[in-house]
Amino acid sequence: MEATTRPGAGSATGDGVAAAEGAIEVRRPADGSLIATVPIDSPERVREVVEHVREAQREWEALGFAGRRRWLGKLRDWLFDNEERISELMQAETGKVRADAELELPLICDVINFYGENGERLLADETPSPHMPAIKVKRLRVVYRPHEVVGNISPWNFPLILSFDDSIAALMAGCAVVIKPSEFTPLTPMEVVRAWKEDIGGPAVLDVVNGIAETGGALVDACDFIQFTGSERTGKAVMKRAAETLTPVSLELGGKDPMIVLRDANVERAVNGAAYGGLLNTGQICLSIERVYVEEPIYDEFVSRLAQRVSTLRQGTDTTSYEHDVGAMTSPNQPAIVEVHVEDARAKGARILTGGRRRDGPGEWYEPTVIADADHSMKVMREETFGPVIPVMKVRDADEALLLANDSTYGLASSIFTRDFHRGEELARRIDAGAVNVDDVLTHYLTLELPMGGWKSSGIGYRHSAAGIRKFCRVESIVSPRFPQGKADPLWFPHTPRKRGAIRRAFRLMNARGWRRRLGL
Ligand code: NAD
Repeated sequence: MEATTRPGAGSATGDGVAAAEGAIEVRRPADGSLIATVPIDSPERVREVVEHVREAQREWEALGFAGRRRWLGKLRDWLFDNEERISELMQAETGKVRADAELELPLICDVINFYGENGERLLADETPSPHMPAIKVKRLRVVYRPHEVVGNISPWNFPLILSFDDSIAALMAGCAVVIKPSEFTPLTPMEVVRAWKEDIGGPAVLDVVNGIAETGGALVDACDFIQFTGSERTGKAVMKRAAETLTPVSLELGGKDPMIVLRDANVERAVNGAAYGGLLNTGQICLSIERVYVEEPIYDEFVSRLAQRVSTLRQGTDTTSYEHDVGAMTSPNQPAIVEVHVEDARAKGARILTGGRRRDGPGEWYEPTVIADADHSMKVMREETFGPVIPVMKVRDADEALLLANDSTYGLASSIFTRDFHRGEELARRIDAGAVNVDDVLTHYLTLELPMGGWKSSGIGYRHSAAGIRKFCRVESIVSPRFPQGKADPLWFPHTPRKRGAIRRAFRLMNARGWRRRLGL
């Protein structure tokens, strides 16, 4: 079956899209109908927008943490006051089911509250004591000073969370932020930025630009820090571009998250966890369960129960009736990738227990799918599928499961299902990934006190926790005297034999180990 690319939208690298016509057509993935046309911002326009927010940044920084928290509190209140409308808009441009669309807004408000309550402490000056006795007369200070303008380039799978999660942290830190949302889902971020400017009357430190590669590239050139969430391929292009101006980047990229089910696991919980972790948001999450390894003794039971569970899920895009569990696919390019992975697995001998077909249009639909007897010769176990597909592989024991889990270029997150939580934690230390959920899926994303980031090709840098706000700051070290100073310090010119002798003896005494060496005997 051929990939359908809806008119006016193309791959994220910008090939063959309405970019040439200077506009993006935003369509409903559920039925392909047009929602809006959004003008593409030229590189000149991007520079203008960045300079505009830069002008307002100093005042924003000077406002202090409490002042910034107050403004972001107003944004939180606006979001809750407009919850229905935002969920509807997001549903239209993503094709999510209502429950998935409603997940995003409270999570962003939680980030506002978390950094609102903890950010000041996390960014407070640190005053370490000098380790060198001779420097005890100094006061040391580590100061977190914000980058002026952060560019946040985001993907289409969570238009609100991934455009605002890092943006909130950056704004709290005192930066100005320009968001470049995905060309497939710009409307929700645009509406929130509009509200910040018009309804809330917030300072001019938050803006949005639209487009694809050219706009994104111009943003990389113009900003002082780039937060990028998206594919590994584009992440590498962004990092290369940022190298030209030595602009620091934080990259949250793709994943191929493994789930290991040990023989002592609560099978029903593991089945439900795999179904939710694999199919939430139609499997379009960087943290989706993308491959499952199950120990031999419970393999047959696990796969048949999983197939049964998934076959009962209802697909569609509901309203507040909440009658659907799995939605459409947001990007028109994604169903074709899913199809290639499933057909490759089928051809190599895997069993498709449920689903396994693209649904006829209009819109972008792929059935929730369970694949049994998968192995590492198959694309579906090696490459990011980013769709509603759960492939399962039988393993001899935990050691084999760990070996296979680590046999990936990605290392974003993972899960281990077992009733022995202590053993689960021990095995977690052997998984090469930025996060492990024991007897659970996805929960680490909600634990804002923990850093969230990928190893290997899954990224560089972390969001959430202290790391997630400090990354938006430049670290400044300040050394100042505790007491009035003399005319010159001992290390300063001129060098004399007497002074050098005393300094050498002092350094030796401090740094050599063993009395003979300390005393130079
Ligand atoms: P993508 O890389 O195709 O696009 C991401 C963003 O980059 C879009 O806004 C796009 O317009 C922009 N872009 C495209 N070319 C660019 C260029 N040359 N310079 C600058 N910007 C450019 O990703 P996508 O298809 O939108 O999202 C899906 C991918 O995102 C998946 O791989 C998924 O795993 C990943 N993702 C990662 C996380 C995470 O936190 N690690 C979260 C969600 C999604």
